[in-house]
This record gives sequence, C-alpha cells and structure tokens, in this order.
Amino acid sequence: MAQDNLFKPGEKVPDSGIYKIMHDRNHRVDHEVTCIANERFPPCHGCGKGVRFRLFMKALHFSELEEFRIKAA
Ligand SMILES: [Zn+2]
Repeated sequence: MAQDNLFKPGEKVPDSGIYKIMHDRNHRVDHEVTCIANERFPPCHGCGKGVRFRLFMKALHFSELEEFRIKAA
C-alpha cells in the first residue's frame, strides 16, 4: 500500500489528475504530469524505478464522465 500518496512505477494510478514527479539522482527537476486512473505509473528512462509520483490535484479525464463520453454510432 502506498504511503503518503507517494506512488512508484508499476503501481496503479488511483485517481486521474495532476501528479508531481520526483526524479532520482538529480536526473532532472521535478515537474507535473497528467495521469489517468487505472493506468500504471511508468518507469523513467533516466532514473528507472527511482522516480516517484505524488498526487497534486485530482481532475477527471473527460472520458471518465458520462456526459462527455463518445457514443457508439
Ligand atoms: Zn528520471
């Protein structure tokens, strides 16, 4: 179980939204990305599994809302 809302590569994204990324070994400065619920957090090509993701702000992707879902023809 993840502690303190800190997630590792391979773990399932619990909530869609903006996550802050913290890289290992000063690979690069921290930054933010959008993650989609139920996808897996990816490893970094620069610091592998040393990268960490922390939820910054929940925000649903439009495809997760019925009123915006694309309907089959
Ligand atoms: Zn990295």
